[in-house]
Amino acid sequence: MRSLETDYLVIGAGAMGMAFTDALIDHADVHVTLVDRRHVAGGHWEDAYSFVRLHQASLFYGVASTVLGNGAVQQNGPEAGLQERARQPEIQSYYHDILQRRFLSTGRVTFLGGSEYRAEGPLHLVSSRVTGETVRIEVRRRVVDATYLSPTIPATTPPPFGIADGVRVVPVNELVRLGGAPTNYVIVGSGKTATDAIVWLLGNGVSESRIIWVRPREPWMLNRAVVQPDPLVSFALAADTMESACAADSLDDLFLRLEAAGVMLRIDTKAAPTMAKTPTLGTWELDLLRSVEKVVRLGHIKHLTHSEIVLEEGSIPLPPDSLVVHCAASGLQYPPLVPVWGPDKIRLQTIRVGFPCFCAALSGYVEATRDDDRERNRLCPPNTLPDTLASWTRMQVRGTIAASRYGAEPDIAAWANRCAPNPARVDPSQRDDPAVRAAAGRLAESAERGLARMAELAHEPLPNAVDA
Ligand SMILES: Cc1cc2nc3c(=O)[nH]c(=O)nc-3n(C[C@H](O)[C@H](O)[C@H](O)COP(=O)(O)OP(=O)(O)OC[C@H]3O[C@@H](n4cnc5c(N)ncnc54)[C@H](O)[C@@H]3O)c2cc1C
Repeated sequence: MRSLETDYLVIGAGAMGMAFTDALIDHADVHVTLVDRRHVAGGHWEDAYSFVRLHQASLFYGVASTVLGNGAVQQNGPEAGLQERARQPEIQSYYHDILQRRFLSTGRVTFLGGSEYRAEGPLHLVSSRVTGETVRIEVRRRVVDATYLSPTIPATTPPPFGIADGVRVVPVNELVRLGGAPTNYVIVGSGKTATDAIVWLLGNGVSESRIIWVRPREPWMLNRAVVQPDPLVSFALAADTMESACAADSLDDLFLRLEAAGVMLRIDTKAAPTMAKTPTLGTWELDLLRSVEKVVRLGHIKHLTHSEIVLEEGSIPLPPDSLVVHCAASGLQYPPLVPVWGPDKIRLQTIRVGFPCFCAALSGYVEATRDDDRERNRLCPPNTLPDTLASWTRMQVRGTIAASRYGAEPDIAAWANRCAPNPARVDPSQRDDPAVRAAAGRLAESAERGLARMAELAHEPLPNAVDA
């Protein structure tokens, strides 16, 4: 068997593997072998539905060395005034460019695309899905698992319910390839993919009366206007969050206060949402979503027959000539939190609140600039991704503590303030701006009490001075 030597073996060339590799090779003279079963870099975007866009600013996505997009503000359309958001082709070509120009052309990165990684005891084996050849990778330094948070998507994950023969069910990707229009569209899912599908259908002239929305859980979503690359906006968001927490007497109350502050959005103001994955949503999208009146709230679908949708809490008729659109993959993943730097491998996870690209880049920087795993793990404790009101709040607590640790290191703070995917970035030229100082001051007034209250509400213990 042929073997290859490398310093780092990074498994997964999605957003996280790419961001880690980019920051690592920028700060350490090392060789990286990047492996992916897909033939290209960019991960799940390769199989995404064609009308997908980043749900937040392009600037917040990608690798640290190279901005995605132009950092431009949208001038026209329903989001005029908000930052541009890349579409699928732009994300794909961005990662293609990073791989070719930033990585491969340096000779310091080898890409084994279309290749499956597997471990056999101490051996690291990579098999080409094209030639069938297996190579052994001799790793001088580290194995990096950049698949730990890999999202599930409808194109590659079957619907989580039974389907009788002949019932028409398609993944969301197929909407752009329909041969003929059905009478009704049954959209299944409560998250970003379902909302994208409905906004796309309405935008393409489908009347809301032809849409049945099976929404097992009511979602809270973030108002896109408060997640923008501008320190005034990000300090205000953090201050609103902390002030709301200080006054909240329950998790539900916290979210209602955030809604009153213009931070959170919900589709149905009479419902009490239980889901808080919190993708960002434009208020123009909210208006469209609210126009859909046929909403089914009977839990998850168990199975579909020719004439019925059978759900956890009851059944409803499946109208003739319906197309059921699968938007029900769980997307975000919630594996157990483990130290990022483990004895066997590095497992990339989020660290601050959300923003997987920045967190992976941070891990690459810390890997390159620190030489002790205990210290690395202290600076970069793993965080959860949000799902419920409790886990969203837990994520705020863990992320705030993490940011205070890595942010206290002068070199990391300086690096992070130059790093576009960092949503809390304050450019050095803005630091002394009186408005920015005032916004930071407002946050400082409630930060400690807000953090303590969120820790109480989410039952997330705060570390004591010894652990910190
Ligand atoms: C529709 C959608 C929209 C999103 N929008 C945003 C957004 O706007 N902003 C944001 O911050 N986040 C967004 N996210 C979340 C974010 O994109 C993901 O968290 C992030 O891209 C995940 O990247 P990843 O590298 O962890 O996973 P992936 O993109 O899934 O990459 C992992 C890679 O590992 C490869 N792999 C897995 N196992 C093996 C193996 N054994 N051998 C070889 N290769 C393997 C896979 O082929 C895959 O390419 C979105 C997610 C989805 C699903």
